[in-house]
Amino acid sequence: MSTHPEPPPTTELNYAQYSGHACCWCGKSLLDVTGVKSAGISRGSSGVHVLDIEVYACPDCAAAPPQTPARPVPRAQSGRAGSIASTQRRPSTTGGIT
Ligand SMILES: [Zn+2]
Repeated sequence: MSTHPEPPPTTELNYAQYSGHACCWCGKSLLDVTGVKSAGISRGSSGVHVLDIEVYACPDCAAAPPQTPARPVPRAQSGRAGSIASTQRRPSTTGGIT
């Protein structure tokens, strides 16, 4: 069982990714990156022309390839509470001098 998912199809790659100049997963430029790994063969075709080509991944994606490239990033729910508590609690002063 392969631990590496198939790279995206060529139809989902931009020119840099298709040319092997960018990571096929995250799209980061690989021109100045060391440790670039092959991500496998991206499958695609245009009419009768087979566009299958080897694509590459940056070290980060090669170490942990995303299962789904277009996965929405879950947001950390760290928002503040919507309502501002305006209740002021006064200590009851009993036995005050009147
Ligand atoms: Zn990447």
